[in-house]
Amino acid sequence: MRWKLRLQGQYMLVTFMLAVTMTLMGAAAHLWLSKTQSEHLIQELSFQNQKTFKQELSKRADQISSYLAKALFNPLYTYNIEEAQILVEPVLQSSEILELTVFDIHGNVFYDGNEALTLLGSSFKSNKKIQPTLQYGATLHSFSNTTLTVVKPISAADQIIGGVYLKTSLARVNKDIEDMSQLILEIENKTTKRLHLGVAIAAAIMLLCSALLASIIARSWSRPLQKLTIQTDAIGRGNFNVAKDIAAEARNDEIGELSEAVRSMATKLEQRTKKITHLAYHDALTELPNRTRFIQHLQNTIKSYPATSFSVLFLDLDEFKVVNDNYGHSSGDFLLIRLAERLTDCANEITNDHPLTMISRIGGDEFLMLIPHLKALQDVDSVVKKIFSGIRSPILMENEELVVGGSIGVARYPYNGKTADELIKHADIAMYRAKADGKNTHKLFTPTMFKSVVKRANIERELRRSLTDLSQFELWFQPLIDLKTNRIIGAESLVRWRHPRLGLVPPGDFISIAEETAMILPLGQWLIEKLCHQLQQWSPYFDDGFHVSINISSKQLYRQNLVEIFSFYMEKFQVPTRCIRMEITESLLLQDEEEAEKQLKLIRNAGIQVWLDDFGTGYSSLSYLRRFTVDGIKIDRSFVRDITSDPKDQQLIQAMIAMANNLDLLVVAEGIETAEQAELVSSFGCDIGQGFYYDKPMPVDKFVSRLIDKQKPKNVVHIDSRM
Ligand code: C2E
Ligand code: CA
Ligand code: CA
Repeated sequence: MRWKLRLQGQYMLVTFMLAVTMTLMGAAAHLWLSKTQSEHLIQELSFQNQKTFKQELSKRADQISSYLAKALFNPLYTYNIEEAQILVEPVLQSSEILELTVFDIHGNVFYDGNEALTLLGSSFKSNKKIQPTLQYGATLHSFSNTTLTVVKPISAADQIIGGVYLKTSLARVNKDIEDMSQLILEIENKTTKRLHLGVAIAAAIMLLCSALLASIIARSWSRPLQKLTIQTDAIGRGNFNVAKDIAAEARNDEIGELSEAVRSMATKLEQRTKKITHLAYHDALTELPNRTRFIQHLQNTIKSYPATSFSVLFLDLDEFKVVNDNYGHSSGDFLLIRLAERLTDCANEITNDHPLTMISRIGGDEFLMLIPHLKALQDVDSVVKKIFSGIRSPILMENEELVVGGSIGVARYPYNGKTADELIKHADIAMYRAKADGKNTHKLFTPTMFKSVVKRANIERELRRSLTDLSQFELWFQPLIDLKTNRIIGAESLVRWRHPRLGLVPPGDFISIAEETAMILPLGQWLIEKLCHQLQQWSPYFDDGFHVSINISSKQLYRQNLVEIFSFYMEKFQVPTRCIRMEITESLLLQDEEEAEKQLKLIRNAGIQVWLDDFGTGYSSLSYLRRFTVDGIKIDRSFVRDITSDPKDQQLIQAMIAMANNLDLLVVAEGIETAEQAELVSSFGCDIGQGFYYDKPMPVDKFVSRLIDKQKPKNVVHIDSRM
């Protein structure tokens, strides 16, 4: 880890260094000042001393010389050397006296302190210092560095008879001065030392105080900053409660301002986070929880109440696309919002506002519901019933009452899944099954459904691959029998998928997938081409009335220009339009009635006949016959199946055939499996029969040999005039 000097440390260091610098500077100044001052003092003192000492000395010398001048008057006057000698002797004892000369008025030596009297009578005039004394009787003091000379006149009553010349040494005085200076210096040194110690102690105390103060101040800065750092970090991690602590510790300085800024940032951040969280977990249109939130809730429920029992319902609205297409997207949105409200009310009513209840919109027209406390199967049934009645009651939109249906898949915890993922997936699968089973219904999940879904996914993937090799698809043919003559007059072409690995796949397993994924468009076109090519090859063998029908899915009708495609291949393979019938289911017409009507007209105008397939399974089959002009109907095999046992179906078929005959339409009965069925439909006036009783769908070569077996080529097949 890199060593870091934190703010507190930095501040303390700087303050400490500043204090040290100032202390050192102060001490240095103080020392310098005291040194200069003491030097000055010593100088002053020694000067004063010197002055005093000299004054003292000159006073003493004066006294001695005065005494001598007085005492020596008589001996000099009387020229009594002996007496002078006795008087001078004690003075000469003093070591300070360097020279003592007594001279007469003529400037000649009277006595020089020497016992031998060698200089007696010699001239002393050469000594200039005695001149003022001889001439004016003045006393002279003269200092040199090492000596003091005093010349005093010997006189009485203004009569000068000579003088005393005294030279004393200053050595002692100088020594005294020096000793005194030494003493002062010593005292000074002691004082300075004490001063230094005082300064050092004061500096140390000051340093300590400044360090302490710096630390206190630094703490008062860094503590709240450190705290703020921790709080900001906590806020960053989404703990907005700390913002309250910040508000409680208001300060009046910059740190206070910073705290306030952080607090207000936290408040704004909290609001934004709430908003974002809401957006992340809710559907913007209906305000319901979204898929993420639902999964979370489901997971929590399983974790917190593992012993509970609840159901996950997957609701998908039926034909919601039609609402969007016909009324516009804003109306679709309006409908979804209404439905969301209804579902919520409904679910809360069912579960008595149970807190675990949740309705969620997971996209488009899909809703997920968690309904707790559904133990028995009957509960599920009654709940679904209530939900259905809730969503099915008409919604008023643009002055029209709209009824929306839906398919519901149910997965129960813990029987149909133990994890959120499993439950949702299984409810989804059950919903698909409900859709496949005719919509507007509900299904409970069963494990077999799962297999069919896996199979479906497998087929979808394989189907996508097969698009690069459409030759895997072939057309099989099921004969159409003229019920009056019992002869083959044509066939229905039915697609088969010869998959290299899966083998022969029946259309029931892949057509719906191909339709949903729009893969039916290239496949359908390929089948049209194939049929035209086949008809070209058969043309020499069949008479003009022979025709083959082909099934067309809704996507082809709405998304492709069928007339163009048919015209192109019929021309390419020289196939006359009368040889082809187009089978379309009536539910296909429901999707967009106007467009369907338009397309039908175009197709029929191009000369291709259209048959309404699976007739009777739609709700308004009979009324459709009036609206859409078609050439024939194929009665669904579900009616034919029960015709011999169910009188109601018998009546229905009779009514259908009668009506078709009335409208001059051709009638084909599908799914004839027995002779009785064939006889009955024939007796009701049905024109053509198709079913296992005659033949199952078969491949081309088999169909051809079947025809050759039973009928001779060309003009042999009897054709009904209306066909
Ligand atoms: P569909 O148009 O109603 O076709 C008739 C179906 O009934 C065929 O099933 C046929 O094999 C079956 N069938 C015929 N006679 C009897 C009988 O006596 N008893 C019973 N139980 N069934 C009988 P297939 O060939 O499996 O076709 C199923 C559906 O697949 C067709 O129903 C049609 O909707 C669709 N389909 C088939 N071929 C094509 C095609 O080329 N294009 C499109 N778009 N759909 C096709
Ligand atoms: Ca058909
Ligand atoms: Ca049919």
